[in-house]
This record gives sequence, C-alpha cells and structure tokens, in this order.
Amino acid sequence: MVNSDVVVVGAGIAGLICAQRLRQMGHRVIVVEKSRGLGGRLATRRLSSGHADHGVRCLEVQGALTQGLIDRLCKCQILQPWVDRIHTFDRSGILHLDDSPQPRFTSATGITSVAKFLGTGLEIWHGQRVKGITATAQQTWDLTLEPTGAPSASRLTANALVITIPAPQALALLEPLLHQGLAPDRVAMVRSVKFSPCITSIAAYSAVQQPIATSLPWRAVTFLDDPDLDWVAIDSSKRPDAPCPTVIVQSTARFAKEHLETSDLQRVGQQLLERATVLASWLAAPEVLQVHRWRYAFATQPLPVDCVVADYPLPILCGGDWCGGGDRENGDFDQKHAKFDTRGLRIESALRSGLSAAEQLGMKFQGISLEAASQAVSLSNLKVGAMLAETIDQI
Ligand SMILES: Cc1cc2nc3c(=O)[nH]c(=O)nc-3n(C[C@H](O)[C@H](O)[C@H](O)COP(=O)(O)OP(=O)(O)OC[C@H]3O[C@@H](n4cnc5c(N)ncnc54)[C@H](O)[C@@H]3O)c2cc1C
Repeated sequence: MVNSDVVVVGAGIAGLICAQRLRQMGHRVIVVEKSRGLGGRLATRRLSSGHADHGVRCLEVQGALTQGLIDRLCKCQILQPWVDRIHTFDRSGILHLDDSPQPRFTSATGITSVAKFLGTGLEIWHGQRVKGITATAQQTWDLTLEPTGAPSASRLTANALVITIPAPQALALLEPLLHQGLAPDRVAMVRSVKFSPCITSIAAYSAVQQPIATSLPWRAVTFLDDPDLDWVAIDSSKRPDAPCPTVIVQSTARFAKEHLETSDLQRVGQQLLERATVLASWLAAPEVLQVHRWRYAFATQPLPVDCVVADYPLPILCGGDWCGGGDRENGDFDQKHAKFDTRGLRIESALRSGLSAAEQLGMKFQGISLEAASQAVSLSNLKVGAMLAETIDQI
C-alpha cells in the first residue's frame, strides 16, 4: 500500500499545475492518470509520418496565466509562433482572414510537450483509472484503481484528494460519497456542469501533396455556422521539416452528438473529410485516417468558482476547465445568467482552477478549514499570474 499526502486524479493541464504547486510546497503528491500519456485534451497522436495535435489546436494568450506559460515555454524553445491570423469560412463559402492578428503558438514536437514540461519531476501513475473512492475509518481516502495498461496491484491512500477530470466523470466518483456524508450541494454543483462533444479526424496524405499543402493560402480555418465543421488545420505546417501533409478536422458539437455512439467511427471521420473538401478536393483521399471521439470536449456550462471544495468526509477538491471561467477583472461575468463565459478561455480556466485548488489545500495543511480557505483565496489575476510564474520557474 502506498500513502500520499495528496492524490491528484487526472494529468491534464489543471492536474499537472496543481500537483507541481503542491509538490513545491513540500507535500508528497501522486498523480493518477488513466492513459499512457500526459496532458489529457492537450493531446498529440503519433503517426507513421510524424504526429498531429488532435485536441487543443494551439496556445494563445487568454489571460495572465496563458501569457506567463507561453512566455516561459517560448524562452525554453518548447513553443514557437505558428500563425497570427486564422481564416474564417463564412456561410456564403467565402474565406476571410482574421481582422486583428493574435499570435498562436505551438510545438514542433507536439502540443503535449507543454504537459511533459509541467509534469517534470512529478510522481505520475500512468495507465490507472480511478474507479472509486471511499473515506476510511483511519481518516484517509482509499482509491480503487483499474489498470488500463500494465496491471498494478498497488493500493493507494491519501490524506486529501484533488479531482481534475471532466465534471461528468468526476460526478461518477462523487455520487457514491453522498452516503459517506459529502454535502449534496457540492455534488449538485458538479452535476450542473455541461460539456459538449467533438469528433476529430486525423488524416495523413501522400508526400506528393506536400507542395500543394504548403502553397495553400490558409493554415487553419474556423467555420461559422457550419452544421458539421468547426476547424480544419494543416497540422504539418507546425513543423518545417514535415515530409507529408497531416490535416486535423474537428467537428461541431451538433455533428458529434449525432455520431457519438456510432460503431463505425472511420466512416464518420471520412464523412468529415468529405465535408472539408469545400477547402481542397484532395482532403477526401488520405493515405491514413484515424478518428478520435471526445465525449467531453468543451465545458459549455461551467461553474463561476475556481474549484468545488468539501472538508467532509475528508478534504476533497474538484476542478479543471469547467471551473474558474471568465476574467473577473475585465468584467465578463454575465450577471444576468450568473455564469462566466469561458469561450476561448479554456486553458486559462484549467490553469487557474489547478492553482487555486493547490493554494486552498496548502492552507488546509496549515490547519485552516477548506471552507475558510475557499473564502480567503480570492485570486486576482495579478496574484494568480505571480503564482504561476513562481511555480513554472521552479520546474
Ligand atoms: C478537440 C479539442 C480542441 C480544443 N481546442 C482548444 C484550444 O484551441 N484552446 C483552448 O484553450 N482549449 C481548447 N480545448 C479545451 C482544452 O483542451 C481544455 O480546456 C483543457 O485541456 C482541459 O484541461 P483539464 O486539465 O481541465 O482536463 P483534461 O485535459 O480533460 O484532463 C483530465 C485528465 O484526467 C484523466 N482522467 C479522466 N478520468 C480519469 C480517471 N477516472 N482516473 C484517472 N484519470 C482520469 C484523463 O485521461 C485526462 O488526462 C480543446 C479541447 C478539445 C477536445
């Protein structure tokens, strides 16, 4: 049996920054991640001809935290500028260039390089899905793990838990705790979060197409009002030495909802490529096609708090991109609908949520209740920006 001060469930960007901060405070932290890799939706798929980013498309400045992360990662050459302007495909089939330039950054080694950086020095248990959690009479959390790769017989216990997985998945872990006294209002908060899905086609083409792909007037296109297409990018344009074109096509939530449960995902992926031929006819004929189903892609109804916390039955905090939305200081809090608009602020929200969870748990370990800590931790953009800088400077 292994005992830890804190177990962080999920090695996405929120879980990794939270674990780094707690580790730097001197706590023993174990991150448990169901997949073999790191980064969650910050995802890169290996292909025989290279790799492609099939989740997060690129990084852009969304606030103080993404600004700090991008600056640091550019300095150590993990990120490079990719494009300043994205094309938009409008209803009448016309391509426009973004009015105002906004630099987008990416990594020649794949966007998961960002997660690899944040995971430096952390104890991460890969290939282990957390299936259940219970509070024991010994005042520890007991985690039931299900190996998704190599089997592991280890039992894991912790004094505190941070859950940074999409809210609907977190709910499955939290609901059984109602019988152990977890406050129903906390569970209700997590239940209120809504996510939308996305289907991604990852297509690799013959090297013969490379000169054609590099001469296209666009590298990435967002679609306005298209029922099926949301985003098409020449992913290989992120790497100057790419031998052949790789293309990412991401669906709308509407299209994904319609095809989410299909048993023939390849056919659905091909359908997306055929829709993308409005941009170039060769897109319908890849040499290799892989398709990924994101059941929980974007938090469409996030919470206006940085994380959900409870002291009872034992310390537990939940967060991720479905929390901490919006830029309080620039006032995009929608008073009327009492929620933050997180469109375009997803990485920013995940970072903010992870840092806030770490800060509150740090106070808990100093003897302050989580209830009091969550009242006390009102993170201004300036403060949270400084926390991020401090954390990544020590990596
Ligand atoms: C197709 C797509 C494109 C996107 N593009 C952008 C973009 O351009 N810009 C932007 O800002 N945002 C974008 N996003 C959103 C962005 O990816 C997320 O906001 C952000 O990565 C969320 O990070 P997170 O740490 O909260 O969660 P996640 O990245 O989802 O991390 C959660 C982790 O928990 C693991 N996990 C889940 N359940 C368990 C369990 N039971 N046990 C153990 N581990 C578990 C998962 O494997 C995952 O690694 C995009 C998302 C998608 C899907």
